[in-house]
Amino acid sequence: MDIKEGFVGTVGNTPLIRLKSFSEETGCNILGKAEFLNPGGSVKDRAALYIIKNAEEKGLLKPGGTVVEGTAGNTGIGLAHICNAKGYKCLIIIPETQSQEKIDLLRTLGAEVRTVPAVPYKDPNNYVKVSGRLAEELDNAIWANQFDNLANRQAHYETTGPEIWQQTNGKVDGWVSATGTGGTYAGGALFFKEKNPNIKCIVADPMGSGLYSYVKTGEIKPEGSSITEGIGNSRITANMQDVPIDDAIQIDDHEALRIVYQLLSQDGLFMGGSVGINVGAAVALAKEMGPGHNIVTILCDGGARYQSRLYNQEWLASKGLSLG
Ligand code: PMP
Repeated sequence: MDIKEGFVGTVGNTPLIRLKSFSEETGCNILGKAEFLNPGGSVKDRAALYIIKNAEEKGLLKPGGTVVEGTAGNTGIGLAHICNAKGYKCLIIIPETQSQEKIDLLRTLGAEVRTVPAVPYKDPNNYVKVSGRLAEELDNAIWANQFDNLANRQAHYETTGPEIWQQTNGKVDGWVSATGTGGTYAGGALFFKEKNPNIKCIVADPMGSGLYSYVKTGEIKPEGSSITEGIGNSRITANMQDVPIDDAIQIDDHEALRIVYQLLSQDGLFMGGSVGINVGAAVALAKEMGPGHNIVTILCDGGARYQSRLYNQEWLASKGLSLG
């Protein structure tokens, strides 16, 4: 018998998909790890599970306890599912700029959701800071703290990386990932460099994020903005510290949208916006490296979470974008 144990037993072991149209276009294998097939619908199920397991093992999270987190949505969705499956309460602080679909889903899952204005990290009312304070004030509560909790990147070092290694028989030439917390990129980069230091590890960055300039010049200088959600950062989180980075590739929203619409119409894949950044950067790396390479990236979540935005022409037009 091959039977998974509940929600928790179903996280990970996602397929690796060859993206046909982009592979043909570049002469490389552009490979997408299908994280949208996790039971909570995103790559963040892995981090959520490791963070909760780690807190249980350390005796920090006790029966009936509350998990508090500041999240752009997907980590909260993963945490809310796991809290239901394990009997914990879940309190989520989310910037009001995130898609309504994610906020509605969090409430449906039974999380207590508080929306806060989107203000920079240095502001005490930033969603991450608010979640940390609330976790301290509440009894029997933990702060998941995904940005600086290394259980996050450990999830990818111990699961995502090894799964990709097995799925490709170790034939990886490039690893490309956008970063929100950096857990996915960092766990993968640490794993792949240990296996083979020649594997190119590339940060994919949207406009408005400071990581591209940080990699190129050593200075964090965000420029522009992006409609993509859950990615980009203007600080080096604990998860991104002491992590190898060979280069960064910046992808703008026009290109990211072109990519997600091509994935939809030519590859049959209905994807979220960060996938456009990831695949756009993977294609750019493939063109730089030349044909015959295996470039792996992440298909972070599905398009249904952004139906009212990325797949709504009126909304796109309101942002000065009209691809589709
Ligand atoms: N894509 C989406 C849609 C996300 O929600 C996130 C996480 N916020 C990421 C990518 C980036 O993942 P990580 O936090 O591991 O850097």
